[in-house]
Amino acid sequence: ALVGGGPGDAELITVRGRRLLAHADVVVADRLAPQELLAELSPDVEVIDAAKIPYGRAMAQDAINDVLIDRARAGKFVVRLKGGDPFVFARGYEEVIACTDAGIPVTVVPGVTSAIAVPALAGVPVTHRGLNHEFVVVSGHLAPDHPESLVNWDALAVMKGTIVLLMAVERIELFVKILIQGGRPADTPVLVVQHGTTSAQRTLHATLADAPERIRSDGIRPPAIIVIGPVAAFGA
Ligand code: SAH
Repeated sequence: ALVGGGPGDAELITVRGRRLLAHADVVVADRLAPQELLAELSPDVEVIDAAKIPYGRAMAQDAINDVLIDRARAGKFVVRLKGGDPFVFARGYEEVIACTDAGIPVTVVPGVTSAIAVPALAGVPVTHRGLNHEFVVVSGHLAPDHPESLVNWDALAVMKGTIVLLMAVERIELFVKILIQGGRPADTPVLVVQHGTTSAQRTLHATLADAPERIRSDGIRPPAIIVIGPVAAFGA
């Protein structure tokens, strides 16, 4: 089963996800999967940290796929536990393809994505009547001018609605620059949440213009969500 573990708070996994987790022989967990859920597992469950799977010349993702397939072929019930939702920037569908190609059926259990839940629990709804009719979830793992980038930053700049940036702390200066150049007002409200929904949660309210400097001076580090748009003013 490919299970979304939710954004961090152990109570935000789905009922189905928790039930399947309780039946697992093997759990292959991501770094962002709620760690408390792992602590609840019985001692005879094999827990594999996906970030620590040794891999040689194969890519890390191939090594993870190999472990999933290997344990399933050994007759084990394997739960692949991810943070948030498994199909939101989590390579979940690649794992589904690898398993089904190997003849292993996969149950997909959606999760509460951090893209919506982290702002929510920091006091910010991603939509609000009269403020926006769209919200876009964007990966910031590549710079706007990266040849492999698939993001239309100019379109995001002219759009009025909410932008939810994931994996964007490292390159926030570049994203802010291209959004302001493209027409987003410099005073657009911004919310930044690090370690959302957990006891380590930190939040920061800023404007588009000063967000990079505030993020650096506050020492905000990944994992963090950056919400840009009128809704980000809530809870300030
Ligand atoms: N599948 C996940 C997202 C994986 S991408 C989901 O649906 O939530 C990883 C990025 O998600 C992180 O870099 C960060 O931007 C964001 N993220 C995940 N959990 C978070 C949390 N608890 N607080 C803040 N950001 C989080």
